Amino acid sequence: MAIGKGAEQRWVDTMITGALVLPMTKGVPLIEDGAVAVDGGRIVAVGPTDDLRSRYRGRQEVDGRKRAILPGFVNTHFHFTQNFLKGSRDDVSLLDWINQVSFPRILEVVGQYRRREALYHHYSVLQGGIDLLRSGITCSVNMEWAMLPDIVDSYEQVGIRAVNTLTLTDVTSWTPEDAVLSHDEYFGLAGELISRCRESKDGRVGFAYGVACPNSNTKELMVRARQHATDDQVPLHIHLAETRYEFDRFMEEQGQTPTAFLESLGFWDRDVWAAHSIWLTEQDQDILARYGVGVAHNPKCNMKISSGAAPVRDMLRRGIAVGLGVDSCAVSDNTDFFETMRTAVFLQRVTTMDPEAILGFEALDMATAMGAKAMKMDDRIGTLEEGKLADLIVVDLTAVNIRPFNNLVNNLVFAANSSNIRSVMVGGEWLIENGKFVRFDEEAMLDEAEGYIAQLLKEKGLDVPSYFAIAQQGKETDQ
Ligand SMILES: [Zn+2]
Repeated sequence: MAIGKGAEQRWVDTMITGALVLPMTKGVPLIEDGAVAVDGGRIVAVGPTDDLRSRYRGRQEVDGRKRAILPGFVNTHFHFTQNFLKGSRDDVSLLDWINQVSFPRILEVVGQYRRREALYHHYSVLQGGIDLLRSGITCSVNMEWAMLPDIVDSYEQVGIRAVNTLTLTDVTSWTPEDAVLSHDEYFGLAGELISRCRESKDGRVGFAYGVACPNSNTKELMVRARQHATDDQVPLHIHLAETRYEFDRFMEEQGQTPTAFLESLGFWDRDVWAAHSIWLTEQDQDILARYGVGVAHNPKCNMKISSGAAPVRDMLRRGIAVGLGVDSCAVSDNTDFFETMRTAVFLQRVTTMDPEAILGFEALDMATAMGAKAMKMDDRIGTLEEGKLADLIVVDLTAVNIRPFNNLVNNLVFAANSSNIRSVMVGGEWLIENGKFVRFDEEAMLDEAEGYIAQLLKEKGLDVPSYFAIAQQGKETDQ
């Protein structure tokens, strides 16, 4: 090994050596005996171990043998409060699900905000944050209803990088009146959230405006959100064309698609990323490509509630940055990003009948570099390269479910699962190290968070009865 003279070696916080490194940068293939040097929360260098050894010495030295190092996954669409609804319903369409399952809980969340309480969001961020980090997600969107700026303390407690998105909606025939804030309240609250996010430790929490969907927003609110995003220099997120209902309604009432309607409002720009984007015409895709709009593709959610298949292959061919998202554990049930990657591949292949519709490497790109680009963070995260924030994951390659290796990328995308993730670093800090959370007792925190929410929902009559209980009730009625 070519170890340089000690005096020429620079000390860095962490040196990972001897690993299979997948930087996910354009033109840089897998580095077989690779190293990553991290200092001050950023990546200082990535390259062959011999090369980096000659230049750097780590205050912490990490043996990367039999490990793969990848950029942390970027979850471009997610709702933390819905993490408590895993396994709740699997027999409803989106519209029924929203009315029967989602809105009653949203009313409680917004009610807490009005009472200046923060616990629903707080425990959602703790429980969801643990879940996402265990899945190797180092940065996640949180599209949520009114919250106090205290939510930033919750992200800081768990350590995950987050983009906190305030949901805007004002059509009371769609959203229950008690869940709707006035326009001035929305933008006043957004101002407070932006200030608090800008002061977040190490800049780990960002803000974006979140337009719930074109159905549930008046033209006026969408135009104001667009203007505020420009003035405040923050991005803009929206659920777009998730349902055929939305598409048909706009065609009927406006004579144009939801995507074209938003263009007519001047809504689209480079700072927008749209979740779902399923019901798009060819012209709609051209619009998104022309304005540089990113897309958050949520294949598992779209399949589970029968929303349809987004034209991902065609969007990628148009140069649209498409990232991946879990969406919500109420309609996606787990946060495993390997599963999300391969589901994205399978869904495109079965709907296009094209075995090359998306390749394994493209899915991994969507989960990392392209995901960061879709949500306008590619200047900071998404790849392992000098100057980027040190958000990375360490995958254990010794587990039987992913070996033997024929193609590391394909083995990861098609055979790995979350349990293969050994360590997770955000901003140069190990949040999970060798399978264990560093900052806190994981089990105790989960018990506390889930205990609070279970008790709250029970008190409000919103706890989800198990199927066993439902089946029992049915039997009693029949008798
Ligand atoms: Zn969503």
